[in-house]
Amino acid sequence: MTDSKNPETTVLHAGYRSDETTGAVAVPIYQTTSYQFQGTEHAANLFSLKELGNIYTRIMNPTCDVLEKRVAALEGGVAALAVASGQAASAFAIQNLAKAGDNIVSSTNLYGGTWNLFANTLKDQGIEVRFADPSDPANFERLIDDKTRAFYAETLPNPKLEVFPIAEVATIGRKHGIPLIMDNTAAPVLCRPFDHGAAVIVYSTTKYIGGHGTTIGGLLVDGGNFDWEAAGERQPALNTPDPSYHGAVWSEAVKPLGPIAYIIKARVTLQRDLGAALSPFNAFQIIQGLETLPLRIREHSKNAAAVADYLSEHPAVSRVIHPSVQDGENRSRADTYLKNGYGGLVGFELSGGLEAGRAFIDALKLFYHVANIGDARSLAIHPATTTHSQLTPEDQFASGVTPGYVRLSVGIEHIDDIIADLRQALDAATGTGSARHAAE
Ligand code: PLP
Repeated sequence: MTDSKNPETTVLHAGYRSDETTGAVAVPIYQTTSYQFQGTEHAANLFSLKELGNIYTRIMNPTCDVLEKRVAALEGGVAALAVASGQAASAFAIQNLAKAGDNIVSSTNLYGGTWNLFANTLKDQGIEVRFADPSDPANFERLIDDKTRAFYAETLPNPKLEVFPIAEVATIGRKHGIPLIMDNTAAPVLCRPFDHGAAVIVYSTTKYIGGHGTTIGGLLVDGGNFDWEAAGERQPALNTPDPSYHGAVWSEAVKPLGPIAYIIKARVTLQRDLGAALSPFNAFQIIQGLETLPLRIREHSKNAAAVADYLSEHPAVSRVIHPSVQDGENRSRADTYLKNGYGGLVGFELSGGLEAGRAFIDALKLFYHVANIGDARSLAIHPATTTHSQLTPEDQFASGVTPGYVRLSVGIEHIDDIIADLRQALDAATGTGSARHAAE
């Protein structure tokens, strides 16, 4: 265990020192479904939450527990819940507060899968998602009514890569008893949303936290910094009796255990009933990634900034999207909320539009053409025909996807090799190489 606040130390030491029985230093994979109770009283205490402890791996597991504790420590939160994917984390984060008839207000700048979840699946479940343009934080306040239960946004949303005004929107929310849920998938370590007033963080650990493209996973982290009780009627899910748990009122029932009402409720109701459990093996893989996350995210950011510079100078590129080349309000938000780097994602548009974008992707040799981000390897994709293809052209435009947009997730290979691959693919797609040779 460690009290260090430095992320490099936290990710290696928080939540686990060594195995009590074997002394194992690497976190063991507790590949078990269930746990022997010490007696009937112990079992009854666990089920009634008088005592916290292992019951059944759908709800908790010691390997997942280390991952949960480490990421909670990294974020300055109080507790976390590991789930099977980032999608499950986003869905749970909202379903934990909103039921049919309620609404949330979300930023328009979202990952395509989250957009679908919000615009279609949650809608079918009776939860309305109202979309606010985050360039003006006041847009969130304009959409509130007495059924609004949460605000939702991504810290560094791709493809627009315009950093979200976390403190501005969190402050509006707190005035109304509304928590801000931040998807921090693209900016772990670089941003700590709880420091700026967010109440809940969600992650797709599939991306930078796992970091090696091996494992789908997700996390919800509770900041323990939101007064659910004071929010009163605004937050009925935590302040009215829950018939699925003997009428427990979560904001009161969990008080003796600390400010963890939100995350306990998610674990013992949603995870119990919907069962999006993360397997212990997957938790182990994600922990391996987490242990080098601070190092990797710095390298991703450094390489991405160099790529953004290179592309900005290229004659066939009409627009580059990365916080390092932004100015005005977007740059000042990036500088307020991101520390030690602007992240590993870079977007750009070729003057040749859709056809040039496709030809560029087909010509890449080092970069993989995949639907993922945050792998140690460099990745590329054309969002309009893949990740965002299920959106209407208007919705694509609202989330920042234009027909010629190419998204890069810049890896941690040597920067010279990354640039060399981009150069040869741009030459192949646009003929700029031969033009340059002719001029030289
Ligand atoms: N949030 C963001 C920002 C993402 O990029 C993704 C996946 O691409 C998700 C959530 C969903 O995560 P997962 O694929 O682990 O379900």
